[in-house]
Amino acid sequence: MRRALAIGLLSALAAIGAAADTYPQRPITMVVPFAAGGPTDVVARIVAEPMSRALGQQVVIENVTGAGGTTGITRASQASPDGYTIMMGHMGTHGAAPALFKGLKYDPAKSFDPVGLAAGTPIVIVAKKGFPAQDLKGFIEVLKARGPAINQAHAGVGSVSHSTGVLFNSQTGAKPTLVVYRGTGPALNDLMADQVDFMTDQIVNVAPQIAGGTIKAYAIATAERSPSLPDVPTTKEAGLPGYEVSAWNAVFAPKGLPADVRAKLVAALDTALKDPATTKRILELGGTVPKEAEAGPVALQALVEREVARWTPVLRSAVETNP
Ligand code: ASP
Repeated sequence: MRRALAIGLLSALAAIGAAADTYPQRPITMVVPFAAGGPTDVVARIVAEPMSRALGQQVVIENVTGAGGTTGITRASQASPDGYTIMMGHMGTHGAAPALFKGLKYDPAKSFDPVGLAAGTPIVIVAKKGFPAQDLKGFIEVLKARGPAINQAHAGVGSVSHSTGVLFNSQTGAKPTLVVYRGTGPALNDLMADQVDFMTDQIVNVAPQIAGGTIKAYAIATAERSPSLPDVPTTKEAGLPGYEVSAWNAVFAPKGLPADVRAKLVAALDTALKDPATTKRILELGGTVPKEAEAGPVALQALVEREVARWTPVLRSAVETNP
């Protein structure tokens, strides 16, 4: 009996070892919890390609949308922790969501094996091209005067555009009508088509359109201007110094990866981000590439814990004053 158990245990261990040694043997799914074409999708596609090369298997993007990104992240968090399902989370799904969803089925700090930060994405306040205001102060005056006649786009409760949008409204006293999308890719299309008035979104989604003049940017919510949008003033320069917020995208796996599999994913993301073509693409879009101290799973776990602690009180009070 004892011998049979020992043999069973040995063969199970051998199987785990073999799986890790040979991982990956088939394509890996990266769940993107928002619509194709938006910032999370863009960052995912930028890193998936060099990660595929590093892993020797295709990293395939699957867009699973809904509920501000929490539908896709919930589903991915429940997948087998074998390295064949990973996900691109962000400041909303892994920072803001717990403040706004009572029954959230995952805990950003406990339900995942963090792989690493993929990109920093400053927030930009953007409006449709013909919005009748020259600068941020004028924009806020129009928002306050027109109240719910103004439409603000966002990607669902708890998303980056929603949480940073609600924060913007609570700081400025704006009370627009909120219009929900499955991601800010489709929201941006509607902004360009004059179907909605404004949104606050991740720079990597909006930089090309701002540069091309198809939408307007009133300010970037960072301490310094972005080299990719040198004409866009910071919120401080434009008169709203309290509104400083930067989002991020990061790769996570369901909790419980075998150590070797985890190490391979971490190394693949690291290799991907060191690829000059990847860096160039992220920087061109106004994103930032993780510095040494920000890269990897330990830094990402700490970031998630900081972000949940930071966003929970801020968002709860912003939503109370500005539901
Ligand atoms: N940036 C979006 C958000 O507001 C989501 C997306 O990536 O489409 O969370």
